[in-house]
Amino acid sequence: MSAMEPADPYFILGVERNASIDDIKRAYRRLARDFHPDRNPENPEAAERFQEVRAAYDQIGTDQKKREWDALHVNPFQSYGTVGSGPQGFSSLFKQPPQPGQRARPAMRGRDIETEVQISFEAALQGTTADVDFSVDEVCDRCEGDRSFREVCPLCGGSGLETGEDHLATRICPTCQGDEKVPCTKCGGSGRIKDTRRHRVKIPAGVDDGTRIRISGKGGPGASGGQPGDLYVVTRVAPSEVYERRGADLILDVPVTYPEAVLGANVILPTPDGPISLKVPAGSLPGRLLRVRGRGMARLGETARGDLYARIAITLPDRLTEDERDLLETLKEVSSEMPRQHFFPDGMPLEEEELEAES
Ligand SMILES: [Zn+2]
Ligand SMILES: [Zn+2]
Repeated sequence: MSAMEPADPYFILGVERNASIDDIKRAYRRLARDFHPDRNPENPEAAERFQEVRAAYDQIGTDQKKREWDALHVNPFQSYGTVGSGPQGFSSLFKQPPQPGQRARPAMRGRDIETEVQISFEAALQGTTADVDFSVDEVCDRCEGDRSFREVCPLCGGSGLETGEDHLATRICPTCQGDEKVPCTKCGGSGRIKDTRRHRVKIPAGVDDGTRIRISGKGGPGASGGQPGDLYVVTRVAPSEVYERRGADLILDVPVTYPEAVLGANVILPTPDGPISLKVPAGSLPGRLLRVRGRGMARLGETARGDLYARIAITLPDRLTEDERDLLETLKEVSSEMPRQHFFPDGMPLEEEELEAES
């Protein structure tokens, strides 16, 4: 079947625009008989004409269908006089009251559509653009959304019968079950078809996992003149391998050695803007947070950025060199540190040797 606008059914059936339904029926029966494939087995053109005739009749064969076709295909400049010629002029065409049995449908806003987009942590940090694919329900352009639309069965050509290879055996057409007509072959009679769309979305810096970005008017199409719905793009942001994220703030674990923690040190850290040098104060305990202002994520809708926190962790060496071991042994000897004294504020109760060893 071609997707082109079919030719004028009045022309195909050879009747005037003002022909009665009876005239149309008579013309149709005569032509259908003349071009019927059974009568013209050797002539493929006849089969084509037969289909044309059926399709034409399908468009204007009843009062209702004829009225609808006429309303859609009328040429106002020929049939209705000049534009603006009084109350029956051009504009009245567009203000026809609903026909009996036919309700004016209210304008319906299209559906909102939600889709997800996966982005890297770095893309969320910088902002990016992403192509998002999503599907919308479009009104079927073949039946124009009319679920009662029927068309000539493509398998049997509208005869309701299927002819076998030998041109003799016939049986009820399995596609239309002998009805000669089938629901719209494009949408299966649902009146809607899924259309896949792609939209390029600008993703601002600072989006988080689950941020919804609204793109106005890019959702499902409206019906009866209604506005289209909106498209919501939900960002799925991959976690960073380096930073822990708390909203717009970032936390970076910074391992330092025991001497660095005790004596203080300057350490070089990565930040979203490149490396910086940070002073770790002497006596920093594990878990201490050192704030680096303004080096976090962008805050959506704000100019100020979040902060970066360096979280101190203390490492222990995997193995020791001889020198290291000697120095640590010496440190242990000379150390006056008593880190567990607070367990026994009244003084240590027993000498170490007298206690049962637990390990
Ligand atoms: Zn359809
Ligand atoms: Zn059929």
